[in-house]
Amino acid sequence: MSSHVPPVDLKAEFREISSAATKRLQDIFKSGRYILGEEVARFEREFARFIGTRYAIGVASGSDAILLGLMALGVGPGDEVITTPFTFIATATSIARLGAKPVFVDIDPDTFNLNPALIKRSITKRTRGIIPVHFYGTPCRMDAIRKLAKRHRLFILEDCAQACGAYFRGKRVGSLGTIGAFSFYPTKTLGALGDAGAITVSDRKLYEKLKSLHLHGEDGKFHSYRHLMVGINSRLDAVQAAALNVKLKRLNQWNQARRRAAARYTQLISAANIPEIQMLKEPAGLQSVFHQYAVRAQSRDALYAYLKSKGIGVSIYYPIPLHLQPCFRPLGYRKGDFPEAERASREVISLPLYPQISLKQQKDVVKALKSFYS
Ligand SMILES: *Cc1c(COP(=O)(O)O)cnc(C)c1O
Repeated sequence: MSSHVPPVDLKAEFREISSAATKRLQDIFKSGRYILGEEVARFEREFARFIGTRYAIGVASGSDAILLGLMALGVGPGDEVITTPFTFIATATSIARLGAKPVFVDIDPDTFNLNPALIKRSITKRTRGIIPVHFYGTPCRMDAIRKLAKRHRLFILEDCAQACGAYFRGKRVGSLGTIGAFSFYPTKTLGALGDAGAITVSDRKLYEKLKSLHLHGEDGKFHSYRHLMVGINSRLDAVQAAALNVKLKRLNQWNQARRRAAARYTQLISAANIPEIQMLKEPAGLQSVFHQYAVRAQSRDALYAYLKSKGIGVSIYYPIPLHLQPCFRPLGYRKGDFPEAERASREVISLPLYPQISLKQQKDVVKALKSFYS
């Protein structure tokens, strides 16, 4: 059997938007205006409306969105910020870059997200906030997290990098905390033509601070060269904004297609009766956008190698939990500290999933899964 199913298919996505996107890109080339400008302003307006916040700010990447969010919230040396060890490295390095300490809390094995029941015991006098990560596109239990944050006066910075468009009880992620951070890395549910990101916020003071911080702390007039704060250079450029403006119009439709494809996997895998594979359950009230369709698998590493050899584009997000990353050795965590995050890192495997995946491709994936275990 030699089926080729890519992990994502950005070419198929581009085919859907190519005429609209090409037109806008040509307009940008003709204008010669590549930084900020009307496309960026339009995207910021539309994106805020889409998420349901008062403001959105385009930035250069999802990592910068998290970093800038923490900078605006005044996080610095001596502060502690609670987050999950089962996430992409940028969630926690952003905390560390500001001299603050990432404090990890284990995940809920059913959702792979921060377990709210375990947060309380990690709150200290130094705790400033929580970064819930809506991992694989599944919203965190934001009701419980918000209750804790309110009681202990903590900020919530939602890491929405994998969950653009997902809902928690009828509200979009990115509108449920103090600040939302988004990545438009090309493979995310809303992807740019390179690196890009955004911050969502409703508080006016925070918004104004963020507006300044991402433009080197300038006083609100671009190229005034008067700097109120020590900021960074992190702008969304016009080319990325143009692509995002075209794609944002399709996002609901694409996310629905992801959900349908995920439901199809669940059906096909159940019907194939593969007890070695355990599927993720979507809890009531949460609407995932299935950035990843991840399952737990017995003999995961051998399965991964086998599927790769058959041309099936599987991936592992992520093989090493953050508390065991060499760069975080100074934090003093040990193996065994977060058993669920460690088990997830050993067991998870993401199957190919993108809006344009065909039934035939999904059947090929499940056939290959079945053949590995039989
Ligand atoms: C992708 C991702 C980021 C970082 O986004 P970049 O745009 O690549 O900087 C942060 N957090 C999570 C959970 C991500 O998946």
